[in-house]
Amino acid sequence: MAADGSNKRELPFGRPMIGIEERNAVLDVLDGPILVHGERVAAFEREFAAYTGATRAVAVSSCTAALHLVLMALGVGPGDEVVVPAQTHVATAHAAEFLGARAVFADVDPRTGSLDPAGLERAIGPRCRAIMVVHFMGLPGDMPAIRAIADRRGIPMIEDCALSIGGRIAGIHTGLHGIAGCFSFYPVKHMTTAEGGMVITNDPALADKISKLRAFGVDRTHGERVVPGQYDVSMLGFNYRMNEIEAALGREQIKRLPDILAQRRRNWRRLNAALAGVTGIEVIRTEEAGKDSGYYALSVVLADALEARRIDIITHLRDAGIGTSIYYPTPVPFMSYYREKYGPAETEFPHARKISRASITLPVGPHLSENDMAFIGATFAGALERILP
Ligand SMILES: *Cc1c(COP(=O)(O)O)cnc(C)c1O
Repeated sequence: MAADGSNKRELPFGRPMIGIEERNAVLDVLDGPILVHGERVAAFEREFAAYTGATRAVAVSSCTAALHLVLMALGVGPGDEVVVPAQTHVATAHAAEFLGARAVFADVDPRTGSLDPAGLERAIGPRCRAIMVVHFMGLPGDMPAIRAIADRRGIPMIEDCALSIGGRIAGIHTGLHGIAGCFSFYPVKHMTTAEGGMVITNDPALADKISKLRAFGVDRTHGERVVPGQYDVSMLGFNYRMNEIEAALGREQIKRLPDILAQRRRNWRRLNAALAGVTGIEVIRTEEAGKDSGYYALSVVLADALEARRIDIITHLRDAGIGTSIYYPTPVPFMSYYREKYGPAETEFPHARKISRASITLPVGPHLSENDMAFIGATFAGALERILP
């Protein structure tokens, strides 16, 4: 019960898990003179590589920066095509477009929301230079099938792992099934550095190149310079570095990750059980035998007859204090920038359109308890009961 006596709770969609350890770590940075080019970023990279099992990790300023740098390092440029799932964050497609390449969209599997191998096959043309995979809701996608397609054509595959920390297939973490994986530490993701991202790869040459590209294309890191100013610029690079404050946060957050993931799994399963008897909905598949999932959220897809009432359900949940989200509200090819540039037919990408039009994404984050999950499930079921004839 809330303070006003109503049956209302405060259950936001996401809330970063910031404790005394994070506060102290940030203050520790501020007590010293080094805000950038320090030991904390290097340590965070080693820790993230160890957690995922990658040989190398390169910390950057966001997942968007990570995606951009990987495609740039692979030499993607004007005239090239990059296949991107239609159901994703715009960043996945923007990364290709930044480089003058064309994002060519492919539809997703309606059960998982991740890239459909058949859709991928159809989207690959002669100019295709890279394939982007997104592990929707944290469940690793159909990597064996997608890898087979990519390998047969000799096209590098890049994983956008913004939703899939903790996702593994046969023990291999997402991001290591292709050439590189990109992670986000934006506040609503599994762990946060406020803003931040990471590239992981088992290709040391690629990691070296990305390290240079994130810092102006300078050929020598700060630590490698014997005297100040002793460096050359060998390529066109950005300022996409992570700073020491962000890395200090990340180092504390990664320690919490096993607990965060365990609580997400418990919460997802509890909510899924609470929704099991509810008719007129389909839960996006978020766990599968042989795979570890990141359990990013629980996404419910409404049956066609209920679609028009989505806003009523969201409002009902909001009135009970339950925060929701929509992943993602418009398939990327139908966002104005892409729609005006490429003019997709309204009938294209039917599965991505259905998910955008009919889904409600429910929270399972570690700020919530299993009891909260029971409440969310019951409130959701109650909303449908009121709506259904
Ligand atoms: C959040 C997200 C991004 C963007 O991450 P930033 O760190 O904010 O740049 C990219 N891809 C996917 C799939 C995301 O969910």
